[in-house]
Formats: sequence, C-alpha cells, structure tokens
Amino acid sequence: PVESGAGIGQPKRLTVLSGPSGVGKSTVVKELRRRHPEVWLSVSATTRAPRPGETDGVEYHFVDDAEFDRLIAENELLEWAEFAGHRYGTPREPVLERLAAGQPVLLEIELNGARQVRANMPEAFLVFLAPPSWEELVRRLTGRGTEPPEVVQRRLETARVELAAEKEFDVTLVNTSVHEVCDELLGLMVAPSA
Ligand code: 5GP
Repeated sequence: PVESGAGIGQPKRLTVLSGPSGVGKSTVVKELRRRHPEVWLSVSATTRAPRPGETDGVEYHFVDDAEFDRLIAENELLEWAEFAGHRYGTPREPVLERLAAGQPVLLEIELNGARQVRANMPEAFLVFLAPPSWEELVRRLTGRGTEPPEVVQRRLETARVELAAEKEFDVTLVNTSVHEVCDELLGLMVAPSA
C-alpha cells in the first residue's frame, strides 16, 4: 500500500471511501457519522434533488447547474464526476482546512472521483468497499425495487466493471457487516500505520 506522507505512527489524514454502486458506502458513512463524530465527513455539492429526509448542508449541498458550473470554473472542487445524470463534487477548501487542523477527513465518493483524488493528492489513502460476493451485490442492485429489467441489467454491467477498480486502491474492506466495516475504517484512519 502507498502511504507516502503518513510516516510510522501517523494517522492517514485524508481517507477516500469508494467502491461499486450499491455496495453500501452511504450506509457505512451514516453509521460512522453516528458512532464517530470526531471523523470529519466532507459534504459534497450535487445537482441532484434532495431525497426525502435529506437536509441541505448535511448529506449534500444541493446546488443548481449554474452554481456547479461556477464551482468548476473557479476551481473550488477537489474532484468531481457525473453519476446517473447528475454531478457530484468535493469542495476543496473545507477539506484542506480540516487537514491543516490535523483532523481525520473522510470522502465518500464514486470511483472516478477517487481516481482524481489519487492523481491530485498522492498522500490520500484509498479504501475500496467490496461486496461480500458478486451474488450479494446482484441481490442489492436488483432488490432496490422498481426499475425496469434493462436498467437493472445496465447497473449489473457497470458493477462488473467497477469491481475491477479494486486493484487501484490501497486497501479493500469487505462489507459483511456495517459495524465491522466502521471499526476497520476507523482503525485505518486513526491507528498508527504498520
Ligand atoms: P447518491 O446520489 O446516491 O447520494 O450518490 C450517488 C453516488 O455519488 C455515490 O456513489 C456517491 O459515493 C457519489 N458521490 C457523492 N458525493 C460525491 C462527490 O463529491 N464526488 C464524487 N466523485 N462522487 C460522489
């Protein structure tokens, strides 16, 4: 694993949690937020509409297309990507501020964004969240509900490609239980490196 910038005994300050769609990243992050408020979670900007229960400034900063264009133009995003027809990006300034203050920072983003962080901040620690098995991922992607079969089919094809991204990451956590993954993730973020 690449751990440049984080010497022996140093926490890995910037951690990126990524992985295939449907693997349960947001569930892990929700649980981490509940159990470990000392970890600072980046709040992304997105052009998608809030879902029921989501609050502007908590899960996301909900912005319109013009505002997202501005964020890109003014170079205010650490990374950004398009996902399912909407744009998502990490505001740069808050992340840099927290890192400068010595706080552990976590980004929960999709794979293309993780690749950009890898390119722009080589010291970042990249964690791949993997499904317990391909069958389990299929179950999660198809069990979501109401979509037509061709949509589900496309999602499965995408997932197959996404799983191959694992080799680009520093470490893989298998999402067998949300509690275990939380503990492991926290251990990676704050424990001394080996
Ligand atoms: P959702 O719309 O379900 O909340 O998120 C869709 C996808 O966007 C998830 O895979 C999530 O990890 C990803 N995502 C959320 N915020 C960001 C971001 O700031 N940058 C990138 N690249 N992906 C993000």
